[in-house]
Amino acid sequence: MPHLPEPFEAVYVTLIGLVVGSFLNVCIYRLPHGLSIVRPGSRCPSCKTPIRWHQNIPVLSWILLRGRCGACKAGISLRYPMVEALTGATTLGIWLQFGLSPEFAVAVPFAWAMIVLFFTDLDTQLLPDAITLAGVAGGFAVAWFNPFLGEPGIHRIWMALSGCALGGGFLWTVGALYSRLRGVEAMGFGDVKMMAFVGAVAGPQGVLFTIFGGSVVGALVGVSLIPLRGRSMQSTLPFGCFLAPAGLAALLYARQVIDWYLGLLVPGG
Ligand SMILES: [Zn+2]
Repeated sequence: MPHLPEPFEAVYVTLIGLVVGSFLNVCIYRLPHGLSIVRPGSRCPSCKTPIRWHQNIPVLSWILLRGRCGACKAGISLRYPMVEALTGATTLGIWLQFGLSPEFAVAVPFAWAMIVLFFTDLDTQLLPDAITLAGVAGGFAVAWFNPFLGEPGIHRIWMALSGCALGGGFLWTVGALYSRLRGVEAMGFGDVKMMAFVGAVAGPQGVLFTIFGGSVVGALVGVSLIPLRGRSMQSTLPFGCFLAPAGLAALLYARQVIDWYLGLLVPGG
């Protein structure tokens, strides 16, 4: 890795995030429908005109074209530049926290995957295997080098295994119990596979933080939406939309929270 002065490194990292964000838009749009994310190239959703490279510059093209297709002038959703900006900002944020480090190399692809899962679940209530199962495989592939799994050595492989089993097993059990009690399908296997992925990367502690954080925020949002929508809890956002940001927060901050908490228990310790 060539050493760049820090401001250049920050700009470089952000630009990579923006370009990847553009690709994440393609994944979000195509993966739930089983379409290739490689071919064909990006097209206008309305007139199918291929989008040329200078019309496909993250965020900037959308602003220059005033949110319209260059050919047919059909409106292009604000979602596209927002996903690009979110991906750029998240990538920069992780760099600011960890610099170019093993933590960065693990957390950035994980964050990108969580962004895709958030939006596919929001749009289609689907969490594609191409992200979740690939994430489980990727989590095990890098477990030996993954500093989020604790001290180096075989311990990390054990943490990835137990995190994966806890994440998948916990959601599978909750889903099975809920189905028994209510007689309805509580959640698909997508959530189970998603939490297996989170566990393989963030370990068992990360799983507990993710499920706790996602449930608390999910419940608060669910309750606050009841008067707005006049509907029951069941019509609120899919669970993956809460698990995705909670999973990223757990990966990035679980250890700090635990250290802070242990510091409270052992004054001066
Ligand atoms: Zn068009």
